[in-house]
Amino acid sequence: MKQKFSGLRGMGDILPPDTVLWQRLEATAREIFGAFGFGEIRTPIAEETALFERGIGEDTEVIGKEMYSFLDKGDRHISLRPEGTAPVVRSYIEHAIHQREPISKWFYMGPMFRYERMKTGRYRQFHQLGAEVFGIAEPRQDAELIQLALEFLKKLGIFEVRLELNSLGDVDCRRRFAEKTHAHFSSSRHVLSEELQKTLDRNPMRLLDSKEERMAPLIASAPILLEQLDDASREHFDELQRLLRLLEIDFVVNPRLVRGLDYYSRTAFEVVAEASVLGTASTVCGGGRYDALVEQLGGPSTPAVGFAMGLERLCLLMGAKSKAVLQGPLLFLVDAGARDEVWKLLSFLRKAGLAVEADLRGGSVKSQLKRANKLGAQYCIVLGEAELKTGQVQLKDMQSGTEREVMLSEVEGMLR
Ligand code: ATP
Ligand code: MG
Repeated sequence: MKQKFSGLRGMGDILPPDTVLWQRLEATAREIFGAFGFGEIRTPIAEETALFERGIGEDTEVIGKEMYSFLDKGDRHISLRPEGTAPVVRSYIEHAIHQREPISKWFYMGPMFRYERMKTGRYRQFHQLGAEVFGIAEPRQDAELIQLALEFLKKLGIFEVRLELNSLGDVDCRRRFAEKTHAHFSSSRHVLSEELQKTLDRNPMRLLDSKEERMAPLIASAPILLEQLDDASREHFDELQRLLRLLEIDFVVNPRLVRGLDYYSRTAFEVVAEASVLGTASTVCGGGRYDALVEQLGGPSTPAVGFAMGLERLCLLMGAKSKAVLQGPLLFLVDAGARDEVWKLLSFLRKAGLAVEADLRGGSVKSQLKRANKLGAQYCIVLGEAELKTGQVQLKDMQSGTEREVMLSEVEGMLR
């Protein structure tokens, strides 16, 4: 029996013509992020496991359950990256960028890995487009990033989204709040699973991010951080809202928004799609401020803010509107007894930069024309002995069916 292979669960192939959608997405990203002054950074897909544990927080779902970790042949603890911020910060520190640049605006695009349960919009290898800005503490930077995310979505034709905002306060404020949250959940300790009890003692705020159903009422009655913000964070949050209003950007304040990673401080935001194709995986963009992270990972104290978008979810939203179509060739050459001339002409026209195709299997003229139609070629030329003798060919417009006579030597010029 022959052995059959399938791809790993949750790690999909992207095939043509769907790749057209991806290319459009990537090209649009380069265009918009460029316009906002962002340079592209590319980091490796694997890092030391400790980087993520320290960066993301050991009590988060991502670190607790979702990491692809292994020992390499030198017994080093390695992980496939589950997100982009920790690697980008690692790189920022490693190359001592702060010594050269007071401000760095970077974006990245690439695959991320999380061992999650598969469903619509949730995969084990998925792709993120992210942006990070180092060196600016002002709320104006938070607002610029939010505007960038929304402009990008608009460019893709994704309009039905809701921007949700929250502030998580500064480190002290969070410590005080963690104590209150601990007290709140402690009174119901008996209903918590053993695992959640551990989380309660180690990192109570994480409970607010729990997706377990029986936690919902407890979370609903939990204290609200936004009501206890420190003055500076309050001011930052008010100013952010004022700046967004100046740009006529709609938002809702969601005091329950905590985000899944530990490193956020002050601003946290999500862009949620209203469309139903995504089911429960409706958050297309998540981000916020992480002013303490660079220092926490061994760098100088540096304010920073960023976001990441899930590209599969964007593709689902784009695909729901416009099915991707592979662009057909400009010209299809049909061999009717001039196989080597077709072979040479094909090469000549392609070198000239034209999208030209032929059926390398040869076969009947009818079957070759069928192939030309299937590919959606715009023009076609049938080349046989007669055409070679006179040097004249019929250039056929495949859509209208009209033909016009041209010299073989003029085909290239005509097609331009
Ligand atoms: P969620 O609440 O949906 O699990 P998250 O808080 O874990 O999201 P982030 O770590 O903030 O997500 O990642 C940013 C974005 O990346 C998400 O908003 C989502 O669009 C996308 N994303 C996260 N995990 C996955 C996944 N497993 N498959 C596809 N996209 C994902
Ligand atoms: Mg998640």
